[in-house]
Amino acid sequence: MIYCVEDEKNIRELVVYALTASGFEVLGLSDGRQLWEQLKQETPELILLDIMLPGEDGLEILRKLKKETETKDIPVIMVTAKGSEYDKVVGLDNGADDYIAKPFGMMELVARIKAVMRRVDKMHAADNIVYKNIRILPQSHQVYVDQQEVTLTLKEYELLKYLMENLGMVLTRDQLLNYVWGYDFDGETRTVDVHIRTLRQKLGDAGEVIKTIRGVGYRIGD
Ligand code: CA
Repeated sequence: MIYCVEDEKNIRELVVYALTASGFEVLGLSDGRQLWEQLKQETPELILLDIMLPGEDGLEILRKLKKETETKDIPVIMVTAKGSEYDKVVGLDNGADDYIAKPFGMMELVARIKAVMRRVDKMHAADNIVYKNIRILPQSHQVYVDQQEVTLTLKEYELLKYLMENLGMVLTRDQLLNYVWGYDFDGETRTVDVHIRTLRQKLGDAGEVIKTIRGVGYRIGD
């Protein structure tokens, strides 16, 4: 189910019509008040949220959605007028999943919705490896800290994955070398330290989860 929050009746009806024709279940709502009422009934898969609304505007609604545990994971596509409003809103780090400027074509809208849904599915795939705010997507070899993708080298990625697959276990430098570089790799164990250092840097604050166990190796998790 998709909720389309839009006060302009013509646009709302057109969106509901077009999305229904594309196979989505859609419910049109005309303002925040209707949205909050409806959210008590059912959690949608996605919300299309217009910014200029009577009463609470779209940005206020988004802020409230992202604050509450029950609604913070619902993907939101913000609908804005073209021009300065669009530029301003896109520049904000407000937790929206995507933005679309009015007037938009229905093909574009459907494509955006599908793209956001694919991304959300990927983020919740069963084989993802998650620890605190770090998320590994093995299918696509991607790593996210919160919602932000982090680009790692293959070795850094494999180090992180191996440590997160063995939460709470201390892995020695030799074990890490063997696993990540292969048994016949004739490298020094210092190689591991160098890669752990760059891995921590790339993870930013989240890098603190990698604990150094002095004289032994590394561990993620207690
Ligand atoms: Ca409006």
